[in-house]
Amino acid sequence: MQFYLATSFLFPRSLRLRLFTLCFVSTHLPLIGYLLWGFASGRMALAEFLLLTAMTVIGTAIALIGIGALLTPIQALAGALEKGQAASGALPEVGDMIRSLYSGLDRAARATGERIDHLHRAAHEDALTGIANRRGFLSHLTQRDDDRKRGCIALIDIDYFKRVNDLCGHEEGDRVLCAFAARLSALVRRADLVARWGGEEFAIFFEDCIEDEASWTLARIAAQLRDRPIGEVHGRPISFSAGIARWSGGDVEDAIARADTALYDAKQAGRDRIARATTLAQSA
Ligand code: GH3
Ligand code: MG
Ligand code: MG
Repeated sequence: MQFYLATSFLFPRSLRLRLFTLCFVSTHLPLIGYLLWGFASGRMALAEFLLLTAMTVIGTAIALIGIGALLTPIQALAGALEKGQAASGALPEVGDMIRSLYSGLDRAARATGERIDHLHRAAHEDALTGIANRRGFLSHLTQRDDDRKRGCIALIDIDYFKRVNDLCGHEEGDRVLCAFAARLSALVRRADLVARWGGEEFAIFFEDCIEDEASWTLARIAAQLRDRPIGEVHGRPISFSAGIARWSGGDVEDAIARADTALYDAKQAGRDRIARATTLAQSA
């Protein structure tokens, strides 16, 4: 800005002429220096003088043409803005250019934001059932405030699910998985988190619950599945087995491992039941 003001004595109303003058003077400096030195020393060679003059003229012409071309769109925009007419279309090509540049940037920014949201959802959501996936479940648990890392974790596995696929087809299997996810989500509290752990296994975090409360909720879900089955295998309503472990903010993987052991115990004890990390309890 200081340089802009300092050169304002040269053509104060024309930036283009100011630039041309500066360019002209600076490109001619070597020639002027040579002439002064030649006159002072009396050692001027004609061939050198002609060559230097020709190169200076060519260099000046290139610089002036280049600056002129670069300034044309800027001056057109400045002129239109000065008249307050750019937006109203007096210079449609410049106005359109700016508008399309802005809307292009805006579209690109929105598309990038949507893509990031989509990737984040895809990374944390199960595509089939729409509930959280294993990654979403774990990140939900680990990102909680320390005073809210308290409750029970249940691992749930649908009994004899392979038979659903074998007897009724994979599509029916998918439908049962979706119905099971919906049933779990509908029957837990808003504060609890239901996730698809993988395959026909699900996980629930019961916030701020002791094992008794988590077990009652699961027993209620089991009873509902008997009353209003989401599907049947060999004439028997689809059931599940579950393992429950307490989590008090320590290593979440450890609590999950304990729930998994309890789930294994429930399967070993005959399925369709809920086991706690230490004791067994029949859901029926
Ligand atoms: P168990 O009572 O011991 O749990 O027996 P199970 O048949 O439920 O368990 P198993 O591990 O033998 O079979 C699980 C089946 O779940 C096998 C696999 O093909 C099926 N499965 C896993 N993911 C999907 C899925 O996304 N869709 C469908 N339709 N089936 C799936
Ligand atoms: Mg399984
Ligand atoms: Mg199973």
